[in-house]
Amino acid sequence: MKYISTRGQAGPVDFTGACLAGLAPDGGLYVPESFPQIAPAKTDEPYAHVAARILSAFAGDAIPEADMLAMCERAYASFAHHSVAPLTQAGPGLWLMELHHGPTLAFKDVAMQIIAQLYDYMLAKSGKRLSIVCATSGDTGGAAAAAFAGSKHADLFILHPHERISPVQRLFMTTTGASNVTNLALDGDFDDCQAIVKSLFADKMFAEDVGLSGVNSINWARIAAQAVYYATAQAALGGRIRFVVPSGNMGDALAGYVAARCGLLTGGFEIACAVNENDALARLFNDGVMSRAPAVATPSPAMDISVPSNFERLLYEATGRDADAVRQVYDAYKQSGEATLPDSARTRLGCVGITASAVSNVDTMAEMKRFESETGWLICPHTAVGTYQARQTPRSDVSTVVLATAAAAKFPETVLEATGLEAQLPHKCGPLLTRGEVFDRLPADVTAVRKAIEAKARASV
Ligand SMILES: *Cc1c(COP(=O)(O)O)cnc(C)c1O
Repeated sequence: MKYISTRGQAGPVDFTGACLAGLAPDGGLYVPESFPQIAPAKTDEPYAHVAARILSAFAGDAIPEADMLAMCERAYASFAHHSVAPLTQAGPGLWLMELHHGPTLAFKDVAMQIIAQLYDYMLAKSGKRLSIVCATSGDTGGAAAAAFAGSKHADLFILHPHERISPVQRLFMTTTGASNVTNLALDGDFDDCQAIVKSLFADKMFAEDVGLSGVNSINWARIAAQAVYYATAQAALGGRIRFVVPSGNMGDALAGYVAARCGLLTGGFEIACAVNENDALARLFNDGVMSRAPAVATPSPAMDISVPSNFERLLYEATGRDADAVRQVYDAYKQSGEATLPDSARTRLGCVGITASAVSNVDTMAEMKRFESETGWLICPHTAVGTYQARQTPRSDVSTVVLATAAAAKFPETVLEATGLEAQLPHKCGPLLTRGEVFDRLPADVTAVRKAIEAKARASV
C-alpha cells in the first residue's frame, strides 16, 4: 500500500513513511493510492478486531496483521467502556456515539492510543528515536501526552497557548510525570503555536537533527483509526445512517467518508458536519470559497479552526485526484487569503454525501441546557453543536448518530454556565488534581521553542 501527496510533488511512501512524516514534504497531505475494500464489521466483532482489520488494510505489508491486533488490543484496553465507542439512544431514531471513554475523555484518544503503539513498533524496528511536536488548543495535547508518556522511542513536545485552554484540559497534559513529555506554555494564541510548529518543520536542518515528527490531525493513521467507529456503528444499527459530526479540522468527518469509500458503510450514509461560529468549512461547502477569517472564541474551543486542514483530502477526491488543481487552490489561498474552488470540484463536492452548517454560540449554550432537561444527561459543548444541528433537521427515514466528541466533565466551566450543574470528573481522573503540574512558560517565539526542544530531544536518526 502506497501513499501519495495531495499536491503531487512528493514521491510515494509506505504506511510507515506516511505515519512518521505527518505532512508530505511538498506541503500536501498523504492519501492512499487507492481505497482498499474492507469487509464490513460484524455485530459481535470486538472493537479491537475491527480496528486491526481496518488498520491492516491501510498498513499493507508494513505490519503483520497479528502484530496489528496485539497493538489494537493494548490501545483499546485503556478505554473505560468495553465496546470503546458505545451508542446510546437519545430519542426516536437518534443516537449518541460516545467517543469519550478514553484516558483523557475526548475522541482524540481513539486515534492517539493506537498511534503511540504504531510509533513504538515502527521505531523499535528501525532503531530510531524521534521528537514529536504538537500544537494544541486543548484535547490533542492531552491525548498525545497520555498515549506517549513513557514511550521508549519518542520524546513529545506539546505547545499550548498559556492560560487559553481549560484547566482540566491542561491537567491532562501537565501531570503525566513522564520524562519524555515536555509541555511548553506559550504567551500567544493557538494560531501562534501552530505557526511555530510549521516553522520548525520548515527548518530542515533542525527537523533532521531532532528527528521531528507530527501527530496533528493531518496524520493518515489518525484518519484510519477513526474510520473504525463508523464501521462498528453501521454493524450495530444497520440501514442508512446520518452521522452528525462536530467538526474543526475535519479529520473526524473525513474518516467517515473514508469508511464509506472502503465499503464499510453498507446501508448508505450521509455525513453532516456541524461547525461553530468559525464557519470556514460551511463556507467551503456552501459557497465554494476558502477565505481567511480570524478564529473567534466559542464555547467549543476544539473546533475554533480557521482553515480545516483535512478538507484538502476531500478536495483532492472532488477534483478527481487532480493534484495540480489542489495545489492551485492552496497557492492562491496562500497568496491572497482567498481561493475559489473549481466549478467541477464544487459540483462533485455537492454529491459526495457530506454537508456542513454552522451553529451559533447562543444556540450551543441553549442546546446543552435543553438536552439536559430532556434526557438528564450533560453533554459537552462540542457535542451540543452536533445535537443542535441534528434537531434542526429532523429525519424519520434514517438513523441519526451524533458523535459525542468529549465528556462534559472536560469543560466544567461551560457546562455550569449553560446548565447550572456541576459535571463531575470520573473517579479514574482523581489523581490529576493532586499530582502537580509541570510546564515551562516561554514567549511565542520560534527560537525559544527550538532551544527548549534541543535541550531535551534525544533523537537518533
Ligand atoms: C478535535 C475535536 C473536535 C473536532 O474534530 P476534527 O477532527 O478536528 O474535526 C470536536 N470535538 C472535540 C471535543 C475535539 O477535541
